[in-house]
Amino acid sequence: MSPPAAVSPTFQGAELATTATATKASKVGLNGESKVQPGQSIDEMMGQWDNFKFAPIRESQVSRAMTRRYFQDLDTYAESDIVIVGAGSCGLSAAYVLGKHRPDLKICIIEASVSPGGGAWLGGQLFSAMVMRKPADAFLREIGVPYDDEGNYVVVKHAALFTSTIMSKVLALPNVKMFNATCVEDLITRPDEDGVRISGVVTNWTLVSMHHDDQSCMDPNTINAPLVISTTGHDGPMGAFSVKRLVSMQRIEKLGGMRGLDMNSAEDAIVKNTREIVPGLIVGGMELSEVDGANRMGPTFGAMALSGLKAAEEALKVFDLRAKQNAI
Ligand SMILES: Cc1cc2nc3c(=O)[nH]c(=O)nc-3n(C[C@H](O)[C@H](O)[C@H](O)COP(=O)(O)OP(=O)(O)OC[C@H]3O[C@@H](n4cnc5c(N)ncnc54)[C@H](O)[C@@H]3O)c2cc1C
Repeated sequence: MSPPAAVSPTFQGAELATTATATKASKVGLNGESKVQPGQSIDEMMGQWDNFKFAPIRESQVSRAMTRRYFQDLDTYAESDIVIVGAGSCGLSAAYVLGKHRPDLKICIIEASVSPGGGAWLGGQLFSAMVMRKPADAFLREIGVPYDDEGNYVVVKHAALFTSTIMSKVLALPNVKMFNATCVEDLITRPDEDGVRISGVVTNWTLVSMHHDDQSCMDPNTINAPLVISTTGHDGPMGAFSVKRLVSMQRIEKLGGMRGLDMNSAEDAIVKNTREIVPGLIVGGMELSEVDGANRMGPTFGAMALSGLKAAEEALKVFDLRAKQNAI
């Protein structure tokens, strides 16, 4: 098959328009100049596809639109107020509360995956619906996710409806930035009376992190912050990252290890015990079950959302003190 013929940059609108559509060709001029109307509605576009034309662009404009913002964000968030590690259901819920209630704080989310959302895109096994036990339904009302009320619990018709909604709310907040495809490789520490305090994160592109064994010298980047909230999920190739690092840096002795499944005890325990594990590091969601030896809960997600709320509350309790310590 031969390659497509090069097309003149000047759009020959008059040649392409049929007689019938030419009568409707109000949006493209005879010389091909775009008549893109600012604020044109979808309804106005419908039925006009033969005459359709995007506004012109040069490729470098696309590059600059992305890179300028990205590097400005890297600069802005190199000193963050709170870093959230992991954009699963717990981390996103924490970000929502913090970002909404404290517009004065710069909240930075670091997510290892290209696709944020963690394990909350399906309900359990490969089923669609998401179960949340009451009173976590309050959070669904807060973010505007509809559900079926089944008495002691509610059911969202698809887990992705929860995850996409909370993510859209978080990303729309002006004081929240998510860097995805970026992972936390280490924690920044400062001497503290009890050992060390956590005062930021060490980051790298996830794809770079995955190749430290077969490429040389790919040093990381850093983000200083007086407070880090770690919600990296249960142990796995990437999960339970911060608490495993606390063990290897001898800041905590060992992990409790996630126990067998018991929905009733597990959900309460995760929410109640979401806390600052060491100064500067709050742990929530399933990562906490690895520290405390809490039961796993399986496919019921209320504890993840409410653990995020509790993590945000704990963060605000200690933020001023940690910010003062971190200034030195
Ligand atoms: C395969 C699978 C197994 C599950 N097993 C259980 C179970 O045993 N018990 C249970 O209760 N629920 C389980 N679930 C249900 C559900 O995933 C979790 O309860 C829930 O998603 C945990 O929410 P979270 O926010 O704590 O963590 P997650 O939803 O796991 O989100 C953690 C996020 O952190 C990111 N991350 C990890 N490490 C880093 C890092 N170093 N830097 C940056 N980002 C990082 C991950 O990419 C992820 O997006 C499972 C789900 C799946 C898909």
